[in-house]
Amino acid sequence: MTARLVLATTNAGKLVELRRILATDPRLAGVEVLSAADVALPDVDEDGKTFADNALRKARSGVVACGLACVADDSGLVVDGLGGEPGVRSARYAGRHGDDAANLALVLERMAGVTDRAASFVCVAALVAPDGREWTAEGTLQGVLVDAPRGDHGFGYDPIFQPLGSALTTAEMLPEQKDAISHRGKAFRAIAAAIAELASGQPAAP
Ligand code: IMP
Repeated sequence: MTARLVLATTNAGKLVELRRILATDPRLAGVEVLSAADVALPDVDEDGKTFADNALRKARSGVVACGLACVADDSGLVVDGLGGEPGVRSARYAGRHGDDAANLALVLERMAGVTDRAASFVCVAALVAPDGREWTAEGTLQGVLVDAPRGDHGFGYDPIFQPLGSALTTAEMLPEQKDAISHRGKAFRAIAAAIAELASGQPAAP
């Protein structure tokens, strides 16, 4: 059976990453994946209090707009020494949405003199079906913040985030290396079971 699924994101980098992750799951071979642009989804305010609120908000809005099952995610950097900031405000921490350089600079500025460098990337993926069923899955990647940016891959806070057990920042990793351990990779591999369930009309194997 062919099923159609919309990835409700306008972020081109995320779309590439999400397609790559979903393409590796054999249960999703018959699923046609469309982008938000393919079905002209409207923008959604991301002013929920949690990553799950925002992910569900984006997926629900997509279903209302296009009538197809939608997957969305919300993600960010949670810094222990900053009381969990920037958290759900990660994309607009310094004021302007998507200004990665300013956001990263502000985190480093606020971390000056802070000895607790622990931080996590968090991602919640949400799947909403046209019949109203909803699923969420959370993935986290724990690490530390380094003092100065390193690496050219990735986006956002990658140049200052070093996963536990790694000598590289996530901006120094190849995309496949990052996918294998990333918060988004974990959340999307977990939501893939729900997508397979929805596509087949059968309960997913545990
Ligand atoms: P979203 O698009 O609303 O999920 O916002 C995600 C924001 O969190 C991005 O703009 C980045 O600032 C940050 N972020 C999330 N995931 C990552 C990642 O894998 N690397 C670096 N920054 C990330």
